[in-house]
Amino acid sequence: MHSYTDAIDLLADELVNFARWRTRLEPIPLGRPARPADLARAAGRTITEDGIGGHEALRIFREVLAPACLSPDFTRYLAFVPAAPTETAVLFDLVVAAFSIYGGSWLEGGGAVHAENEALRWLSELVGLPPEAGGCFVSGGTLGNLSALVAARHDAELHRSADRPRPARWAFAATSSAHSSVISAAQVMDAEVVEVQPDADGRLSAFALADVLDRDGDRIFAVVATTGTTNIGLIDDLATVGPLCRDRGVWLHVDGAYGGAALAAPSARAAFAGIEHADSFIVDPHKWLFSPFDCCALLYRAPEAARRAHGHHAPYLEILSEHGEWNPSDYAIHLTRRARGLPFWFSLATHGTLAYQQAIETTLTVARAAADEIRRRSYLELVVEPSLSIVVFRRCGWGQLDYRAWSERMLMLGEAFVVPTTHEGESVLRLCIINPRTTTEDIVLILDSLE
Ligand SMILES: *Cc1c(COP(=O)(O)O)cnc(C)c1O
Repeated sequence: MHSYTDAIDLLADELVNFARWRTRLEPIPLGRPARPADLARAAGRTITEDGIGGHEALRIFREVLAPACLSPDFTRYLAFVPAAPTETAVLFDLVVAAFSIYGGSWLEGGGAVHAENEALRWLSELVGLPPEAGGCFVSGGTLGNLSALVAARHDAELHRSADRPRPARWAFAATSSAHSSVISAAQVMDAEVVEVQPDADGRLSAFALADVLDRDGDRIFAVVATTGTTNIGLIDDLATVGPLCRDRGVWLHVDGAYGGAALAAPSARAAFAGIEHADSFIVDPHKWLFSPFDCCALLYRAPEAARRAHGHHAPYLEILSEHGEWNPSDYAIHLTRRARGLPFWFSLATHGTLAYQQAIETTLTVARAAADEIRRRSYLELVVEPSLSIVVFRRCGWGQLDYRAWSERMLMLGEAFVVPTTHEGESVLRLCIINPRTTTEDIVLILDSLE
């Protein structure tokens, strides 16, 4: 099986053509979830002693497995955070796979690491970090948040002065709107989360944070702010939180997994004021920066602090750190890694940053139009004014069961994927618009179906 035969060459045509077909498919179908037993029956036994052959395995994937996967790049997939990878990013992902690049070290993957770092630099400049800032790409915001917080705690342990002894248990401060992955990071780290009361708009602000730091500062190694909460798209008040963290010498981690992309959009930029104080920052290019799964950019203001926490030391790895080159494995919880920033880099290099700015502005415009369409309908009510591209609203007179039934029906019809969420104890609907192909007409179709 390790030889490129004529049969493999035929299969290569089939596979590449299939990938090309999916890449230019228009419209992309939503797909439909399958019951495990149905899927098992339809797919049959695929792993056998002699193999079923590539042609047959591809047939099963095409006819049975792929249709049982939803397409987050479908224009009316507006649940969770959708995906909208560019054609160039998707196609380059095939190239990355073909090259077997080891992305963990400069020695082995320097060319790829250089390109990834170029893409990271663009993000770093958007945040306003100093030129020496840097980091790496990891699988997702979950690992990005955990890696940043581990670096922050390591830094606090190192720099905690004699007059402020090490606490029995470290903690970081966040509001209850922080992403679930932030809470799971605390569990993995055996750290505590000190909850900060949000301001009247639901945001983390310096007023309540100062109190928390006065009271609990000795054990707090980081403050976690969110630029674009996953549920309603709120941006924490970094203009006050940033300077406060700087004054108190506490590490500021900014989770921009979803919303950080809007730094590239002039119409949204002002809301991020203060983000330049971040000590670490994440954004998921697989969300609103049009990269395929899975891809999170993780940046540190002072990368050496992260290297002290994450650098690998072992006799069989020593050769990798002799020359001081940039090893992505030193900046997060990973060693072997796919050069997963390359599809993002290729698309960014191909189209230029202005195309990204325009694509993000397009989605923001559609989100604002969605809010207008909701205001115009007497049977709907906006729950919060959208800050970014998440629109949360209620269908008057409906409860959780009504929302669920409607959502399920729309999914089974292949019309739309929109799921209810909870805001301040109430079941509401949530649209997350990150796909530049999603139009106001798509939104109108969804809203009309709620009448
Ligand atoms: C999506 C998201 C995460 C988690 O990112 P994954 O890539 O799913 O691991 C973390 N924080 C926020 C704010 C998010 O929206």
